[in-house]
Amino acid sequence: MSPPSSIRQKITLLLTLSGGGAVLVVCLVFAIVDHFEARRQYAREFGLQADHLGSSLHAVLMFGDARGAQQALDAIESLPHMMAARLEDARGERLAEVRRASDLEFPVERVPEQPRYAGRFLEVGRSIDHDGERLGTLILMADLSPLQARSSRLMIIVLAVFALAMVIIAAFARTIRRDITGPIESLAAASREITSQRDFRVRVESTLGGEVGQLMRGFNEMMNTVQRQDDELREARDHLEERVHARTAEMQEEISRRIAVERELIRARDAAEAATRAKADFLANMSHEIRTPLVGVIGMADLLMDSPLSAEQMDHTETLREAGDHLLTLVTDILDFTKIESNKLELEVASFSPAQVCEGVRRLFAPRAAEAGLEFDFSIDPACNGLVLGDAARLRQVLTNLVSNALKFTTEGRVVLRLEAESEARDYRTYHFEVTDTGIGIEPSQQQHIFESFTQADTSTSRQYGGTGLGLAISKRLVERMGGHLRVSSELGKGTRFWFSLTFDVTEPSTEPAVS
Ligand code: ADP
Repeated sequence: MSPPSSIRQKITLLLTLSGGGAVLVVCLVFAIVDHFEARRQYAREFGLQADHLGSSLHAVLMFGDARGAQQALDAIESLPHMMAARLEDARGERLAEVRRASDLEFPVERVPEQPRYAGRFLEVGRSIDHDGERLGTLILMADLSPLQARSSRLMIIVLAVFALAMVIIAAFARTIRRDITGPIESLAAASREITSQRDFRVRVESTLGGEVGQLMRGFNEMMNTVQRQDDELREARDHLEERVHARTAEMQEEISRRIAVERELIRARDAAEAATRAKADFLANMSHEIRTPLVGVIGMADLLMDSPLSAEQMDHTETLREAGDHLLTLVTDILDFTKIESNKLELEVASFSPAQVCEGVRRLFAPRAAEAGLEFDFSIDPACNGLVLGDAARLRQVLTNLVSNALKFTTEGRVVLRLEAESEARDYRTYHFEVTDTGIGIEPSQQQHIFESFTQADTSTSRQYGGTGLGLAISKRLVERMGGHLRVSSELGKGTRFWFSLTFDVTEPSTEPAVS
């Protein structure tokens, strides 16, 4: 027999085995106990009957009255279960005897005083005495039919109880089936259907309360959620392709639009570059063209100043000379700037000494600093005396611009030009250049803008200090062309510091310095 597979079979089997088994065991124990109790009771009653009969036979034995003895024994025929009786005298001789069945044999050995079960009969022996002298012996035999009848009755009761128990168990199993296993089976069937058909509309019916009812309602709610999500998923899937097409079309449109914009931008950039190039060329040409007559004007002003002039004429000529100088600086700056912007600036590569370049700048500005009552310090690291390869003129231009600005924007205190060797290798050296002043300083918001062309930190600067706003723009680009970065740090009212580092290849020892 295969083991029960469904929960219903398992619970029914469990109930039957446990309930039916328990009832059966209880009934059997009860029947066994009752059987032995009945045998004991039957034997006791049989013993009492033997006592009673024995005492009635006392007289017949004393007188050896065989007829009276036979009559007394015949009386036992009225006792339903008494099967045989025998009276023996003191010598063991039979005095009287009764047998209800012809095949019935009296036991040969001595029958005990206590009733005993022997085969189909209950036997008992009674010694009948008088004043301590034995008169004779009575032997009685009874059948076991009352016991058998009682056992049969008991078996019927046991069976009836068992049957009743099974009926109760069956009713109980039906209740369990209705309230527990039935719902669980319907849940299992629903799950099977959902899994095999992938149909999330399946629900279980439940009117039950308690945990099982809650379980089924929970299952239905869970399936509602799953179905909703499945519907949404299906809908999303259905629309996905549509959306992908729409999005692809949108993206293609966007790409085409961007390509068009990009083309437009490239066209605009090319046009702007062309315009810038044209402007730079124009500026470069114009600056160059203006420089020649301007140099002539300045030269003429110099000649004029050497000739005998009245004080007023000298004053006018000096003004003319200064204006010419200023104009020449401006034109030179514009020329440099346009060269740099249009990438036409070529750096020279010649052997020079950075220390000597700094010394040249110091010599150039020392008189001006003294005139303005400013301290002009010069700090050169002795390690910087070697020769390197680079454009000394452009380096000087940058330092000149920085020192010139420092002197211009400082009314008291000092200006320091510092040169330090930052690092040194066999083939190259890195120098740190720094110009510090204790002048008016630059506002933090302006510090980024001063490197732009034609920009001044303060609009009043040009009025008060003059200048074009091109010096730092040119210096920054020159330093970058030489491989460095021009940086500034400044505090308004306290002073300004400009610095940059440049790396130059080391000159062969035999090369002569280009700048002294
Ligand atoms: P400018 O010809 O006007 O000096 P620059 O490009 O050299 O042009 O300088 C731009 C501006 O940066 C200056 O107008 C000034 O406002 C500011 N600046 C430059 N150097 C200093 C300095 N050492 N101290 C204070 N302000 C400075």
